[in-house]
Parts: sequence; structure tokens; C-alpha cells
Amino acid sequence: MLVGASLLAARLASAAERRVPVIETVRGPVPADQFGLALAHEHIMCDFAGAALTSRQRWEVDAVVRTMRPHLQQVVDRGVRGFVDCTPAGIGRDPRVLRALAEATGLHIVTNTGYYGAGGGKYVPEHARTDTVEQLAARWVAECEQGIEDTGILPGFIKIGVNGASGQPPTLSAMDAKLVEAAAIAAVRTGRSVTCHTGGAEAGLAAARLFIARGGAPARFVVAHADGHGAEAQRQVAELGAWVSFDAAGQRPAAAHAAAIAALLPRHADRVLLSGDAGWYWVGEPGGGQVRGYTAVTDVLLPALRAAGVAPTTIEQLTVRNPAAAFSLAV
Ligand SMILES: [Zn+2]
Repeated sequence: MLVGASLLAARLASAAERRVPVIETVRGPVPADQFGLALAHEHIMCDFAGAALTSRQRWEVDAVVRTMRPHLQQVVDRGVRGFVDCTPAGIGRDPRVLRALAEATGLHIVTNTGYYGAGGGKYVPEHARTDTVEQLAARWVAECEQGIEDTGILPGFIKIGVNGASGQPPTLSAMDAKLVEAAAIAAVRTGRSVTCHTGGAEAGLAAARLFIARGGAPARFVVAHADGHGAEAQRQVAELGAWVSFDAAGQRPAAAHAAAIAALLPRHADRVLLSGDAGWYWVGEPGGGQVRGYTAVTDVLLPALRAAGVAPTTIEQLTVRNPAAAFSLAV
């Protein structure tokens, strides 16, 4: 451990000299240029019991680690170094599990603060319904400064989720808007980026615009699950300056998926993230249920992008430079 800690300290010192930004991982800050080949949106564990019922009593850390370690090792063996875990509080976020897996595999795993309003609000803790925007933001800022629960582990980003948008112009529900506004405040105060689960193209655009209107920097906002949003919405999100996250690798016909991504690249390669939204140890299912591994980006999507004519330097940008930029702390 001492060797690891002093190695990390030396890396950080040299990163500070080189003015490289850092990414806050479950094992502490890592220079962004060491995040490496990264998966921008995955899940190690989920508990869908709802915010009122989920608790640490519902899973055993060791059992989850034993089950998930081989799946993470598979992508480590393929060269993956960075792993953004998008499971929020209320759906089974457990930094103890993530830290144990980071230590076992060497992956740079990042966890989050924030709440998930999608799913009709089932995963939002009760206090969020009465909290003001400012109170919500303060809770998330406190986690970024003091750590999650009793773990001392700091979130590296903010994860929120919104349902669909309705009306004309498309508008988020009051609860969802509150989450986006609180995320904007917390992002500015903590230097963290925000990944937003979206219930459709209109909701993604509405959330991005609201985040920016409340003072969030466009490049600090990731519109997740943009795969199905269509070329026009993807282009609009990119032109706002936010991130377009194609995180359905392996879940769509590869050639068509790659073609849709490739269409955005000539003008917006610097706004695109890739991942598989895969996993997870399903709390409550025997043995964690049927886990979908994390290899779809390296084994399915990247070959399809290469076949679609995407250049190696662009692949490197999408999988290495972009995630490092999206999840580094703003200084
Ligand atoms: Zn997800």
C-alpha cells in the first residue's frame, strides 16, 4: 500500500508540474493523462428496490466483488484503464465495492454524487422532494468535499437522471428541473462534470439547456443514452458544447450504430463519448443475476467504427482524450 501511495503521490506531483488536470477516482486523484482507454458510462452494481428500501444490508461487498472482478479483468486485459461507474445513490451506489475492485484490478474507477429522477421518481430519496435547489446542491457538494457516507471516498462526477420532457417547448418536471439546477450549482462549486440519464432527445436537450442557463459550463454536461436521440438532437447537443454519450455499445446493430456515430465525427469528434451501459450485479437476484460484461466497446463498437472508416487518431480521441477531458476536475 505504501508503495502504491507514494507512487500515486509522485505521479500527482509530476502532474502538478505539468499542469495536467486530475480525475477523482475511488482510490484518490489520478492525473487525467493516466486515465487511459476509458469506458464513460457503466454500472458495477444496481439495486432497483427504490430509494426507500435500498440499503447496505441488501448485499455483501465480498460477494459483489467476487462476481464482478472477472468482468472488469476482461476489459483490463483489453487495455481499458478508466471506468466511470454511473450507479447513483438510491440505486445501489457503494464506493466500498468500487474501491475493492479498483484495488483488485488496477482500474481507475470513478463514482458519483447526485440523484436519479427517472423511473418516475422511485429512486429519489424522500428529502429531495422538499429540499430546495440550494439544499440539494449543498448535500452533493458536501459529499464531494467530505466523502460518501463513512468511506472517505470522494465522488468524481455528478450523476442525475431525468424522465421525458413534455409540452411545447418540451419541459422537464419540477423534480427533474430541480435536479438539473442543483447539479449546475454543485458542478460550478466542485469542478465536477454532470452525467444526465435522459428520457429521450427532448429531455436531453432541455436538461442541457437548463444546466447552461443556471451557470453550468456546457463542456461539463454529458447527455447520456444519446444513441437513440437521432442525428439532429445529437448535433444540437454537440453545438451547445455538451457531450453526446453513445453508451449503448453492444445493444444496437453494430454497423448502423457505428454509422450514426461516424456521421457526427467530422465536425464534433471532440464532443463524443463511448460506452456500453453494461453490468451489473443485480441486487436481489440470485448470485447477482445475469451480468452483461463490459467488452462491447472494445470488441464490437470499435471494430465497427474502424470498418466505417474512422481513423485511429479519432478512435484514440473518443476513447482516451475525450473521457479524460469530460471527467477531469475543472481548475
Ligand atoms: Zn446507465
